[in-house]
Amino acid sequence: MKILVVEDEAAIAAGLRFNFEQEGYEVVIAVTGEEGLHAFAAADPPFDLVILDLMLPQMSGYEVCRRIRKQDSQVPIIVLSARTLAEDKAVAFDCGADQYVTKPFALLELLSRVRNLVQRRRRGRGAPKVYRFGNVVVDPERFTVTVGEQTTRLTTLEMQLLNYFLENRGKVLSRQQILEDVWKEPADITTRSIDNFVLRLRRLIEPDPGEPRYIVSIRGTGYQFMADVTEQTARSTERLSSDTADSTS
Ligand code: CA
Repeated sequence: MKILVVEDEAAIAAGLRFNFEQEGYEVVIAVTGEEGLHAFAAADPPFDLVILDLMLPQMSGYEVCRRIRKQDSQVPIIVLSARTLAEDKAVAFDCGADQYVTKPFALLELLSRVRNLVQRRRRGRGAPKVYRFGNVVVDPERFTVTVGEQTTRLTTLEMQLLNYFLENRGKVLSRQQILEDVWKEPADITTRSIDNFVLRLRRLIEPDPGEPRYIVSIRGTGYQFMADVTEQTARSTERLSSDTADSTS
């Protein structure tokens, strides 16, 4: 497991390196956004997770986040920031961050967040399954949504939320419940953020995002995912050839 830490404060960077190395992670530190982007692009194998300070010299952490997201829609990004305003968090999430941790932070908490994100990502890879409804195909393992001919890659959280809707289709889900089940850290994020994520998903999958028929708003409560969904194992589609080859060898 390989982590990129983009942090200009040497003491914090050194502390993170020490603790993550103790946990068995390989750590690369970058002290500017530019350096972080270079390290990210050059990494082979790629990084499993990015920890990104927002207040960096020259290029801001927001911009670094946006650019990393453009290259890789899946890598978990944890933003570190001394700013606690809800709007700063919202901007960070809009830039593609998965989690927002305010400084000063508790190291144990950060370590467990990292562990969680890495595990969730591995679990997401575990059971290949593809969902189909209307002209939409969702592949949670590849973090892709295909509508007609158009395939889009989702961020980790977008995929987790869509997957959650799919697994709980037909149920009325309160915002609070969604926070607890998908974000797992309800104290840290406002229900408003869920609405922003839902807006983005609707723009992707709804034939008419203004009149959603899949992710339906339930007034005063939350959302209900309504679709006639077919589940297929990815095995029965694209994976067929390689899996067959494996099992017969
Ligand atoms: Ca800083």
